[in-house]
Amino acid sequence: MFSTIDRSIVYEVGTDITENDINIVSDLWTMEDRQVYRGARDPNYTHANVYWLYDPDSLDRVGLSEHKLDDPSDVALLWYKENPFNTLLQEDGWVEGESFWSKVPSHVYEQCLAEGWTTPAAVAERCLRGSTRVVTVDTLIAKPKVYSCAKCKTKSFTKSACSTESTLDFPEKEKVWFIDERMVVYTPPAGSSVWSITQPQSPSDPSSQPEVQTVPVQPVESVDESPHSSPPETHPQ
Ligand SMILES: [Zn+2]
Repeated sequence: MFSTIDRSIVYEVGTDITENDINIVSDLWTMEDRQVYRGARDPNYTHANVYWLYDPDSLDRVGLSEHKLDDPSDVALLWYKENPFNTLLQEDGWVEGESFWSKVPSHVYEQCLAEGWTTPAAVAERCLRGSTRVVTVDTLIAKPKVYSCAKCKTKSFTKSACSTESTLDFPEKEKVWFIDERMVVYTPPAGSSVWSITQPQSPSDPSSQPEVQTVPVQPVESVDESPHSSPPETHPQ
């Protein structure tokens, strides 16, 4: 769950009682019509005063209250929701759909299976060769670095000697697939804030290919010849 105060802070989602809250005695609180126990201030966070909230019956952690440091009465309540995207963005309306595998052509499915590309990370890496992107909540939390080499025609999440580093680019909305760890595809609600994360700065130009423009010139580390001798070629797509 993204903090509402500092977007660089992402709260982990776990249902167990935090170490900090074991043996804490809490009153029963009503917050947004939900009854909860509230833990002690979580000392792991200093950007806000953060208190985890617990279901009174199961004692599962169900959310948190986030209080501004300079105005403790300014509170945001964040709840675990029914799917990871609803929870991360604190949005309702993300719809769980079919499996990714049932939506791709059968030859793609068979190739992925044969190559062992069965996890979100492996499929995301394979997608780097084209313009489709599979996006998990982890992708949204921290856009991964992409290492590319135009001459070797490689693009990977793993660094190699001749690669240049860039940040993962995103294509137009239609080519972005939001998936969970089980490869289930989710559809965002209209007006979702996710597009502020996954769209290029100039959404008016969906044909732009940011990865071409943002790959920096290879820093000169020596005056040696490049390890490549092949002539320039078009960018692999
Ligand atoms: Zn190379």
